[in-house]
Amino acid sequence: MHFLLDGDWSFTPLREALPRFARVAIALDDGTRVSITDPRALCLVRVHTAAHPPVLAIGPDADDPSVTAAFFRARLARRRGAIKGALLDQKLVAGIGNIYAAEALWRARISPEAPADSLSAARVSRLLASVRDALADGVARAERYRTSDRADRFHVYDREGEPCDRCGATLRRLTQGGRSTCYCPRCQRH
Ligand SMILES: [Zn+2]
Repeated sequence: MHFLLDGDWSFTPLREALPRFARVAIALDDGTRVSITDPRALCLVRVHTAAHPPVLAIGPDADDPSVTAAFFRARLARRRGAIKGALLDQKLVAGIGNIYAAEALWRARISPEAPADSLSAARVSRLLASVRDALADGVARAERYRTSDRADRFHVYDREGEPCDRCGATLRRLTQGGRSTCYCPRCQRH
């Protein structure tokens, strides 16, 4: 299941009406309905059976304990190109989307254009901690997609032209592989 750009999970009692924008609903034996709500109807859902299990072409989740700094660095070392694209590659490590890649790079003070295969061990270690901090922050504010002021909730995402929370420099936006990233040109380095 993939949201692509928007949407959320919703848990409601079966006896209640379907949530607004429910695209898929799963009825559980305990009376709970698990729905996928997606205003823009972009989500992808595939149904697999035990006889035809999915082939998972994705790496371990970024929060999985098996993802150590050494593991992360070894995977990045095989990757050509900029670190931003590497963070979005779900085959490398899964679970990091465009917003959290930008936030993690800002937290780690790493430029989105820094080559993925040349980051020092110390910087990779800091980046992994920053990815986890950014994801944890997102989980703690799970209503983020439904608020109109979501830009206020992030350090760099969608904040081009605003001052950096850390150094005050004006945030810029760059596009790599069709995805844009806001970053601080002063405190994020190659
Ligand atoms: Zn800055």
